[in-house]
Amino acid sequence: MQDCLFCKIIRAEIPSTKVFEDDELLAFNDISPASKTHVLIIPKKHYDSLREVEDSKLLGAILHRAKLLAEELGIAEAGYRTVINTGKNGGQTVGHLHLHLLGGRAHGWPPG
Ligand code: 5GP
Ligand code: ZN
Repeated sequence: MQDCLFCKIIRAEIPSTKVFEDDELLAFNDISPASKTHVLIIPKKHYDSLREVEDSKLLGAILHRAKLLAEELGIAEAGYRTVINTGKNGGQTVGHLHLHLLGGRAHGWPPG
């Protein structure tokens, strides 16, 4: 059993506001939203980061879920951003693979 923040959220040992759940994925609101809509999509299987994943079907499912949730949450038409931070230089702070889905405001480029 993983002593990991997001694994604890999966096991409901830490509360979260879920927006989607199936057998392989969980999506929940970020506790410190960087945009009006800020959802994290995570695999239920623990991976430290994108570096550890070779499962292209799982990676496809995460991205597909981002697309579907963007439509469902009403941010798709105006546009949205999907981000996966990896490692120190990527700005990753939680060591469980997650995709950020951000919308509800304009996001500049480069992100800084
Ligand atoms: P990272 O910087 O690793 O790409 O993103 C981690 C994200 O997890 C951050 O946006 C942060 O606000 C979010 N986060 C950290 N702790 C918690 C928590 O306990 N609950 C939720 N819902 N989000 C969290
Ligand atoms: Zn984990």
